[in-house]
This record gives sequence, structure tokens and C-alpha cells, in this order.
Amino acid sequence: MVEWLGAPLEEPIFDELAIIGVGLIGSSLARAVRKRHGARRIVLSDHSSETLARAEALKLGDLATKDVAKAVEAADCVVLCAPVGATEKIGRAMRSALKPDAIVTDVGSVKGAVIATLAQLLPSYAHLVPAHPVAGTEQSGPDAGFAGLFVNRWCILTPPSGADEGAIQKVRALWEAVGSNVEVMSAEHHDLVLAITSHVPHLIAYNIVGTAADLEEVTQSEVIKFSAGGFRDFTRIAASDPTMWRDVFLHNKDAVLEMLGRFNEDLTALQRMIRREDSDGLFALFTRTRAIRLGIVAQGQETAAPDFGRPRADGNGQS
Ligand code: NAP
Repeated sequence: MVEWLGAPLEEPIFDELAIIGVGLIGSSLARAVRKRHGARRIVLSDHSSETLARAEALKLGDLATKDVAKAVEAADCVVLCAPVGATEKIGRAMRSALKPDAIVTDVGSVKGAVIATLAQLLPSYAHLVPAHPVAGTEQSGPDAGFAGLFVNRWCILTPPSGADEGAIQKVRALWEAVGSNVEVMSAEHHDLVLAITSHVPHLIAYNIVGTAADLEEVTQSEVIKFSAGGFRDFTRIAASDPTMWRDVFLHNKDAVLEMLGRFNEDLTALQRMIRREDSDGLFALFTRTRAIRLGIVAQGQETAAPDFGRPRADGNGQS
């Protein structure tokens, strides 16, 4: 993983940045902002005392408090980094404490539902600029974060129509400072794109790992022993945080169901090809899908090393 972030900024983007939810994404953002001097002060808040104690031990911010209102009261920018299902609770806790012209943003994997919730909760003097860094791992918590997480990854901004242009530029500057490339699109389009590139793949992984775990003809120990045949790559995704992913599916229901409908149609077509022994059809599809993988590697979004970069027994692999 590239850790390059660049030299500290000459002028910080914000005087005070509040991060609510200090898990993988929140702690990575705190680390990266601190390294780049993107804010003069970083205030952290989480509903878990244990997480806040870890955040303090790791020196991720200047102040750590469970009190959301206290965390946001002097912030120029508040970043919600808790699971999407906690948006309403956090929005209610902070709304009367926000400074005039405070920017409120988030990192949620779903955008339409977050905007619908925050737009009706926030005071009119706050500026809402939702964001989604398309970067992550299957791990959770403050110890799992690292400053280079967002380097060379996309961050999608979904400002509602009429959003303040100055606030959009500041949120863009924040993500660029931590190494991301920024793209702007509507929340509706974001939710559709991410349904097929992220949410449905996670659902497929959860499903295949669940199916294998429930099989009666194949033992659990055989599933683990022979997992290098492909299964283990699904298990990495299926180990992702249950709370976060429950919330993603409940808050992006329509787009996920739409994409699942298409997926099911294509799966039926594949079943037909196998039954009819349509070798040309299977070969053509697998050739097309291989090209997509090559495109992802070419754009630097994945390693080209064999076996997904796993170290090899002869020491020639890359990690
Ligand atoms: P995480 O590691 O589980 O961190 C979330 C943190 O928020 C935890 O410390 C959690 O505490 C805390 N939290 C939960 N409810 C809260 C509340 N009401 N008030 C304050 N803190 C609360 O999860 P994550 O992976 O960082 O994900 C956070 C957000 O980033 C989610 O919205 C997710 O959709 C988005 N995201 C994730 C990824 C990814 O790959 N992981 C990528 C892009 C975006 P407890 O654990 O004690 O509940």
C-alpha cells in the first residue's frame, strides 16, 4: 500500500475538524489529516468509551469526547464516520450545537438515505456536503486505520442541489489532501453505481460463504482446507463489519434490489449456457470479464501481482 501523502499543507483547510465515529475510516482520516496538517485541531467522538480510550492512546486527535454536541461546537467541519444507521441519532445530537456556516459531511457508503435524514435535521445555517471515500478494508476499529488508506482512491461527493460552492470546495480539498481523487455525482447515481460495484459483490460473498457453511455433503474442514480454489477470496469480503453492511443494505434497498434483479437474470443465462454446453458463450463471457480485471489493474486500483499479491513460499511474491 502506498503511504505517500505529501508534505504538510502550508495553510490548514480547517481550524477545527470533528470526526464522529473513530473506526477504520474515522481513524484513518484523523491520521491522514494530522500528517498533512489539514486542520489545526482534530476533535474525536465515538459512543464507545473503549474506542475513545484507544483513540487517545494512539494520539489520533487533540480532544476525545463521547458528547457529540461538545465535539462539534467549535468545528468548521464535522465528518460523520459511524455506520449509516447511526446518522439520525448523531444528527439529532449535534444539530443545535453546530456553529454558523459549519460544514457537515460524512463517509457513508450510501448517500440518498443519509441526505434524506440530514437535510431535515440540520439547521439552515449549516452546509451539507456528503462524501464517500471508495476505500476500505474488511477490518474495523481505530487500530485498523492507517494514514495511506485514501491514497490514489476515489472519493465521491454528492452535494444536494443548491449546496454552498465554497463548502463543496473545502470538502474536495480535504479529500485531495489525504490523497484521494475526487468525483462529483448525484446521490441517486452514486447509490446505483455502488450497488453494482460494492454492495451486490458483498451480498454475493456473504451468500456464498453462508451456503458453503451450511452444506451437508462437504465438511467445514474441507471448505477451509481447499479454500485456495477461489473461496478464500470471497471470505475476505464476507468478513466485513456486520453492522456497517446491515446498514448499507437497509439504506440502499431499491438500488441493490434493482441490481440483484439484473444479476439473477444473468445468472440464469449462465446456467442455460452450462446446461446447453455453450462453450463459445462461456468463453466469450469469461474473456470479457478478464478484460475488466485488467482495466482495474491498469488504473492502479489493484495489484497486478499473481494471486492478488499474496507472498509466495519461494519469497518471490509481493505483499
Ligand atoms: P467501524 O470501523 O466499525 O467504525 C465505526 C465507528 O463508529 C465505531 O467506532 C462505532 O463504535 C462508532 N459508532 C457507531 N455508532 C455510533 C454513534 N451513534 N455515535 C458515535 N459513534 C458511533 O466502521 P468503518 O468501516 O469505519 O465505517 C464507518 C462508515 O464508513 C460507514 O458509514 C461505512 O459505510 C463507511 N465506509 C466504510 C468503508 C469500509 O470499507 N469499511 C469504506 C468506505 C466507507 P462501535 O464499534 O462501538 O459501535
